[in-house]
Amino acid sequence: MENTGLSKIVALAKRRGFIYPGSEIYGGVANTYDYGPVGTELLRNIRSLWWETFVHRRDDIVGLEGSLISHQEIWKASGHVGGFADALVDCKNCKLRKRADHLIEESLSGDKEIKVEGLSDEELDKIISEKKILCPNCEKHDWTNVRKFNLLFPVHLGIVEGDQSLAYLRGETAQGMFVNFKNVMESNRVRLPFGIAQLGKSFRNEITPGNSVFRTLEFEQGEIEFFFDPETTNWEELYEDWKTKMREFITKTIGIKDENLRWREHSDEERSFYSKRTEDLEYKFPFGFKELWGLAYRTNYDLSQHEKGSGKDLKVVDSQTGKKTLPHVIEPAVGINRIFLMAMSDAYEETETRTVLKLSPKLAPFKASVFPLLANKPELMEKAQEVYRDLSQSFYISFDARGNIGKRYLAQDEIGTPYCITVDFDTLESDTVTVRDRDTMEQVRMKISELRNFLAQKLI
Ligand code: ATP
Repeated sequence: MENTGLSKIVALAKRRGFIYPGSEIYGGVANTYDYGPVGTELLRNIRSLWWETFVHRRDDIVGLEGSLISHQEIWKASGHVGGFADALVDCKNCKLRKRADHLIEESLSGDKEIKVEGLSDEELDKIISEKKILCPNCEKHDWTNVRKFNLLFPVHLGIVEGDQSLAYLRGETAQGMFVNFKNVMESNRVRLPFGIAQLGKSFRNEITPGNSVFRTLEFEQGEIEFFFDPETTNWEELYEDWKTKMREFITKTIGIKDENLRWREHSDEERSFYSKRTEDLEYKFPFGFKELWGLAYRTNYDLSQHEKGSGKDLKVVDSQTGKKTLPHVIEPAVGINRIFLMAMSDAYEETETRTVLKLSPKLAPFKASVFPLLANKPELMEKAQEVYRDLSQSFYISFDARGNIGKRYLAQDEIGTPYCITVDFDTLESDTVTVRDRDTMEQVRMKISELRNFLAQKLI
């Protein structure tokens, strides 16, 4: 069932240039998206804030930019080749393919007893047949058994057929931190505890229920592997500290309403066997509470797997005591595109007179828009352009002289521009402009010379 809240956001996103369906003029490729001019800005702002917060403003986390194409052995050691699979069912009647857990959750959403996390294929099969779950497309009950499909995208390297070698597009950024752990240790002045952070694309061949950019084949992750020695660092304290930092980033830095967030701890069945604790920070998307950001204490499972897989010693040696440690990790892993969708959902407001995106100024694609009151008065046009050129040196600002002022306000409200600056006839006399606040729609007069400080204050 189409979600009204989501469909309005999707329509706005297309109309104003945030997100377009991927490869649209050729009929599209399902679950791929392109980001338009303002969407690109919003995405870049999210990335920059994440990087600033977790890398630049900390002295114990360093960055990494790993390759998207990676050795197949990495994914064998990490467990993705064997275990990274979705349980899918096909409707024999209409050929609809669904994730078995999603099918059950969606059709039995009123049934509080049903828990699908961590169930085996046989258990999923049993629920589908016992509850006589119908196909949401053709309403028949004629499913195949549950089958597993691997999510990794294979790539074939080399151009001579038969002589190609198999590699994979990375399924997560995290493995880049593990396989480069030794390199980073040896080439930087870092000491435990410390983290390696990475922002970048990951690829998963997923079946998705079409909730816009919530789940796509290609997406961007912001992941941190925070390495520590469990003998000298208390993992529970570190874990709690990460929970606080993650939530603060979402509420204070990104400006999301705290009441739309909650933590959900993974049950024993759902949690990976090597993890001591895993929790998801969930956001109330228009289609329900869903994972935004995962936090997992993964022990030293990953490094030990790569020691076995590569035959290399990845332990840290203390130069004073000679003690050897294979560090443990706590991993906060977030989807940048999910933050994007959350930001749009949280900011979206519709009244009788307008639709407005109340994005935090830090996220807003444009920090302000400059207008001449009338486009056909050269003296206003010239002055407005001067104000625009001056502010553009410091902020990303738009200029709009089309249509009437009312239309310009509506257009800026829909893309979340926090301030609209209008140059009118008084400006020519007094060097003042009107500044209209997106949220209150109130206008104040301000000296042109004060504009830069005014905007800078809003971005702290
Ligand atoms: P889910 O349970 O929703 O499939 P996951 O537990 O597989 O997510 P992780 O492997 O922990 O996700 O990845 C970390 C983060 O990456 C997730 O919290 C999510 O924000 C994001 N993410 C994962 N898969 C996708 C996807 N297909 N599209 C967009 N973002 C994704």
